[in-house]
This record gives sequence, structure tokens and C-alpha cells, in this order.
Amino acid sequence: MNYLNKKTVEDIDVAGKRVLVRCDFNVPFDSEGNISDPKRINEALKTIKYLLDNNAKVILCSHLGRPKGEFNMKYSLKPVADYLTNALGFEVKIADDVIGESAKALAASVEEGKAVMIENVRFHKEEEKNDAEFSKALASLAEIYVNDAFGTAHRAHASTAGVADYLPAVCGYLIQKEIAVMGGALTEPKRPFVAILGGAKVSDKIGVINNLLDKCDTIIIGGGMSYTFSAANGGKIGDSICEADKFDLAKGIMAKAEEKGVNLLLPIDTRLGDAFSPEANTQIVDAGQIPDGWQGLDIGPKTEELFASAVKGAGTVVWNGPMGVSEWDAFASGTIAVATAVAESGAISIIGGGDSAAACEKLGFAEKMTHISTGGGASLEFLEGLELPGIACLNEK
Ligand code: AMP
Repeated sequence: MNYLNKKTVEDIDVAGKRVLVRCDFNVPFDSEGNISDPKRINEALKTIKYLLDNNAKVILCSHLGRPKGEFNMKYSLKPVADYLTNALGFEVKIADDVIGESAKALAASVEEGKAVMIENVRFHKEEEKNDAEFSKALASLAEIYVNDAFGTAHRAHASTAGVADYLPAVCGYLIQKEIAVMGGALTEPKRPFVAILGGAKVSDKIGVINNLLDKCDTIIIGGGMSYTFSAANGGKIGDSICEADKFDLAKGIMAKAEEKGVNLLLPIDTRLGDAFSPEANTQIVDAGQIPDGWQGLDIGPKTEELFASAVKGAGTVVWNGPMGVSEWDAFASGTIAVATAVAESGAISIIGGGDSAAACEKLGFAEKMTHISTGGGASLEFLEGLELPGIACLNEK
């Protein structure tokens, strides 16, 4: 599943056409109702501006929050329309509804080189059900469909997939980049190909580990999930997070790595806390030697060196999940060390959303990475080799 052959906005004539663009405008708000981080809107601007410059009549849509299938103005996209008005330099009007009279009238009236918006697609429960009638109604607003919402590309919803049954369907620049970088790494990685996986649970990452075991030269496992591997190997893990029902799975992964000649690296030491707290007392011990009453909350300094040297000289690095409880300064060191090693490696570096993306941004490494995915869940499913309905539905070149 690499999708390298999907059509993009540049493969279709948009001049004078009404183009429905599915964006990810699911932005956070502060307590006063102001957009607190407009990053997702800014990221969508490249596609929107391309369409405007090429005289399309742009109709923007997105979800925002979880209005549970009902009209609830707390989740209105009006603040996004106001933000776009400023960013684009003309008034971006927003309809009162999604597929009703207001949306139809506004979509019919949009001029070439201008953009309007319809309301939050999740105001209708049919959206998440990928209902055919609702998809058809969305499609009837336009002549071309563009999906640029990578963050929801792993969902088969009406505005992310169903609508493509009724219109020519292409991707925008955000999805194009995700496809090019991640798809490229999975099909023809520059070697050595190193994957770094962390985060809380093995069960969340098992699909990714299995898929990458077929492709990688080295797999590094850190974070909470490493303690399940340690315990499966007979190590003492004290009160560390552990999935006891996944021991066989962990052993299976280690056996598969050996069989395939993949270098599987686990922590050799660990930074402990005597409570799950940012203020916990800490100590460092070798892996598998954790006393009762203590829990592993980060990798230790010897492991930092081991992981950094495995990353050095890599051709491609894929990283998903922190090495410890990186939200807390006392247990962020391992994640910082890995982020630094990836940033300095010179490899094609792909960061899969969520906490690892946040760590890179917080540390000022974002610019040094080749690609920080705009979708945590979607990038994981991509790396698992699963079909992404929001991309699979788009037309081939
Ligand atoms: P994920 O969403 O699976 O990537 O997991 C990220 C979460 O894993 C973060 O909130 C971390 O705080 C948490 N985490 C990482 N390492 C540990 C650990 N050793 N013990 C408990 N939680 C952890």
C-alpha cells in the first residue's frame, strides 16, 4: 500500500470548477474560545492557495471536535472561517448548515478564485457512518473532490471517503507529501532503515512492528512497551507498565526479528521513579533489575548511547512514540537523546505524529526532520501497511 500513483490537484483541471476540499481544521481552542494553535489551518493553505490561483471555486469542509451528530454551535467552524478571512485576504463566508439550503446557496454562489465553507460535517451522524445519501448530498455541492485531511484518512467517513464515489477525486499537497515520504520509505527505503518505536503499549504498536520487521534493518524498542519485552525475557520490572497477556506476542516478535536478521534493540538500562509522578525519586538500574516499589519511566544513559549509535549512519529513520514519560522533565532525557540523534543523523527522518512530533517541536528539531506526519493514528496505520480509506478512494493517475 504505497499510493504513489494517486492523482493530485495538479493532475486535474480545476479552473472554473466547484471544488469540495476536505481539510483537517480540527484545531484546539483556549478557554475564551480563541483558536490556540492554528497549525492545521496553516498547513492546509498551500492546497487552498493553489486552487484559488488556478481559478477554482473552493468549498471547504472539515470536522471539529465531537458534536455527536447534532448541530451544536460550540463546534461551529465559524472561528476557522474568520481565521481564513485574515489569512487569505478576502471574506470566507460560512454556511449555516452542511448540506441544507444555506450550504447549497453558498456553494452555488462562490466565485472563481474565491473560497467559502460549509459547517462541521460531524453535525450529521451520517458523516461517521459513511452514509451514501449524505455522501451524495455533499458531492452535489461540487464538481471535483480534493482530500487533504491526512489526520482522518484512516477513517471511512462520508467527507473523507464516501463522497469520492460521486466525483473525480484527487489529493491535496498535505496528503501527497505523506504518501511520497512515508510510501517511499516503505517501498524503497534508503538503507540502513531504522525504526524507533516507543509509547505506552505493545498492543497499540504490534501491527507496525510486524510490518516493519519485514522492511527494516534495525528496530529499536523503548518507552513503556519495552517492559513487556523485558518481563517476557524473565527480567524483573517492579511496578513498570506491563501487558502480561502479550508475553507470547513479544517473544514472537523477538523470534521473528532473529529469523529475519533484523537487529532488535531493547533498553539495557532504565531510569526509575518510586511513583508515577513528575516529582518521584529517581535512580538508574540495568534493564531487568527493577526493584519492587519502583517503575521504569525512561530509558537510562547507556541505552541513550546505544540507541543514538544505532541511528547514526542510518539512511532512513521512522520514529513513533516517546522513550519514556517525556511530558515530565525528569523522564524526558531518553526522548530528547533520540530526537537529537535523529535530527543529527542526516537520514531521511519520518516522525509519526503524537508525542514524538510534540517532542521534536518542543526541542526545536522540527525543521531538521524530513517529515513530521500530520496524523498520528493515520501514520500508524500507514506504517502498519493497512488501507487508508481516505486515500484508497482517490483516482489513480
Ligand atoms: P503512545 O500514545 O502509545 O505513543 O504513548 C505515549 C504515552 O506513553 C505518553 O503519554 C507517555 O507518557 C507514555 N509512556 C511512555 N513511556 C512510559 C513508561 N515507561 N511508563 C508509563 N507510560 C509511558
